[in-house]
Amino acid sequence: MENTETKQLSSNFIKNIVVEDLKEGRVQEIVTRFPPEPNGYLHIGHAKSICLNFELADEFKGRTNLRFDDTNPVKEDTEFVESIQEDVRWLGFEWDELRFASDYFEELYNRAVLLIRKGKAYVDDLSAEEIRENRGTLTEPGKESPYRNRSVEENLDLFARMRAGEFANGEKVLRAKIDMASPNITLRDPVLYRIAHAHHHRTGDAWCIYPMYDYAHPLSDAIEGITHSICTLEFEDHRPLYDWTIQECEMEATPHQYEFARLNVTNTVMSKRKLKALVDEGVVDGWDDPRMPTISGMRRKGYTPEALRAFCREIGVAKSNSLVDERMLEHFIREDLKLKAPRTMAVLRPLKVVITNYPEGQTELLDAENNSENEAMGHRQIPFSREIYIEQDDFMENPPSKYFRLFPGNEVRLKHAYFIKCEDVIKDADGNVVELHCTYDPETKSGSGFTGRKVKGTIHWVDASQAVPALFRLYEPLITSEAEEEGKPFLECINPNSQELVRGFVEPNMKDAAGHDKFQFFRHGYFNVDPKDSTPEELVFNRIVSLKSSFDPSKA
Ligand code: ATP
Ligand code: MG
Repeated sequence: MENTETKQLSSNFIKNIVVEDLKEGRVQEIVTRFPPEPNGYLHIGHAKSICLNFELADEFKGRTNLRFDDTNPVKEDTEFVESIQEDVRWLGFEWDELRFASDYFEELYNRAVLLIRKGKAYVDDLSAEEIRENRGTLTEPGKESPYRNRSVEENLDLFARMRAGEFANGEKVLRAKIDMASPNITLRDPVLYRIAHAHHHRTGDAWCIYPMYDYAHPLSDAIEGITHSICTLEFEDHRPLYDWTIQECEMEATPHQYEFARLNVTNTVMSKRKLKALVDEGVVDGWDDPRMPTISGMRRKGYTPEALRAFCREIGVAKSNSLVDERMLEHFIREDLKLKAPRTMAVLRPLKVVITNYPEGQTELLDAENNSENEAMGHRQIPFSREIYIEQDDFMENPPSKYFRLFPGNEVRLKHAYFIKCEDVIKDADGNVVELHCTYDPETKSGSGFTGRKVKGTIHWVDASQAVPALFRLYEPLITSEAEEEGKPFLECINPNSQELVRGFVEPNMKDAAGHDKFQFFRHGYFNVDPKDSTPEELVFNRIVSLKSSFDPSKA
C-alpha cells in the first residue's frame, strides 16, 4: 500500500457536499468543530472524527474549533478537558478557537425565553418517568402533557424560578412545543432544560438548570458559525430537531448537520462509559494503560500520530456502520516504523551460552547496521565476548525435523557475529536446561565474506557481561470478541492474559533509552520505551506490535 500520509482526504460524501457548497456559494469558508464531552479520555473512534473535521477544513482552507460539550456537570471534569486537548494536539491538529458550550449558557437561556414568548416551549411538571410513558411508540402517537397549554406568562415565571433554584432536581423541565404525534419521536416535545443542582467544572454554582444536548449543540454550532456539523449516525433522527432549534431560536447562521458511521474495531470496546468501567474496576492501570483503545493508551503503547492519521484516512467515511479489523491498525504502525525504528537485539527469555573456545576476558566490538532498509540510520558497535544470552526457545534438545535453530551438534549464525555450534547442554538437578556450551568459528565473522559453508538458522543474542536488564510487556487484546458476540456483559469478556511480563536483556547501547524511544527488536516486533514506568535502573518496553501478520489490508 502506498504511504497515505501525504494524500488528501479521499473523496467521500461529506467532502462532496463541501465542494458543492463552495461551488454554489452557499458558504464562503468551511468551519467545522470537534465537540467532545469532557467525561472521559478520547479513544480511536474520536480520532476518526478529529481527522475528518480538521482535515476537511484544512483542505479547503477553512478552520476547526475545539468545543467542549460541557452541559452535564455530574460527569465532567477538568482532567478530561486537559487530556483531550493534549490528545488532539498530539494527533497533529491545532484548533482555531477553544470553546466551551458552557460559555453560551446565558445566550442559550435567553433563546429559551424567546421560545417561550413565541409559544414554542413550556414548563412541564411531569416526572422523567411520566414523560417517557407519554412519549408513545413508533406506531402510536404520544400523549400531550396536561401542562402543555400553560400561558406564556406562567411559563416565563416558572422558567425564571427554575433558574433561581426554587425547585428540586426532576421537579420541572422545559420542553419544546412541537408535535406529540410526529412520526419522528425526537420531535415529540423534547426536553430542552433540566434541573441539576450540581457543581459545574467551569461555571461553578452559577447555574442549576442545564441545557440538553439536542438544544445546546445546534445553538453552539450557530453561535460559532460552524458550516458543517459532522456527527455520528445515531443522530440522523435528530436532524429535524437540530434544524427546528436553529430556526425557532432565530439564529443568524444556519449550520447543517451531516452524519457518518462511527468507527468500531474488533476486540475493542469503544464507548467512554465502558472504558471508564475498565478504569474504575481496576481491570487496567488507568485511561492510558497501553491496552486501552484510548489515544493516550495507544500513544503509551507506542503508536504514532502518523500511523493513526493514515489509518483514519484509509478506513474512510461511510454512511453505514462497520467493524474494522484491529490488524488494520497494526498494519499502519508497522508501515510507519519500518524505516524509522532502529533494529536492535533483545533477548526476552534468556538462556546463557558459554563460548568455550573464545578467549576469557576478551571483548570485541562488532559492526551492525541500524536499519537494513534505511542506510541513513547508520551503524553501531556491539560487544561480543565469551558469555552471551540467547532466547530460550532458540534451543531445543530434541528438535523436530525442520528445526534450524540451536540443538546439540548443530551450528547456527549469531546475527552480526559468528557461527556457533552447540557442544554441551548443562542442566540443573530437575533436568532443566540452564546453560549451553558452544564453540565458535573465528572464520565465520559477519561481514568477512566467509563462504565456506552455510547454516540454515540465524538467531539473535546479547553480550552477557554488558547487556542491560529490561522488562518487556507483551500485549494481547483486552476483550475477547467471541465472548462479546455471544452477548455477554462486556466486563465478563475480559481476556485474563492481556498482558504478559517477561524479564530479559537488551543491547548495552540502549542503556540510555528514554520514554517513547521506539525499536524494532529482531524477530520480536516493535517496542516503545514506557514513558511512565521505565527507569534507568530498569528499562520497560511495551510491545507495540509483532513483526508480521498474514493480514492483507487491501482485502479487508
Ligand atoms: P462515547 O459513546 O464513546 O462516549 P460520544 O459520542 O458520547 O462517544 P463525544 O465526546 O460526545 O463522545 O464525542 C465527540 C465526537 O466524537 C462526536 O462528534 C462523536 O460523534 C464522535 N465520535 C465518538 N465516538 C466515535 C466513533 N466511534 N467513531 C467516530 N466518531 C466518534
Ligand atoms: Mg456523548
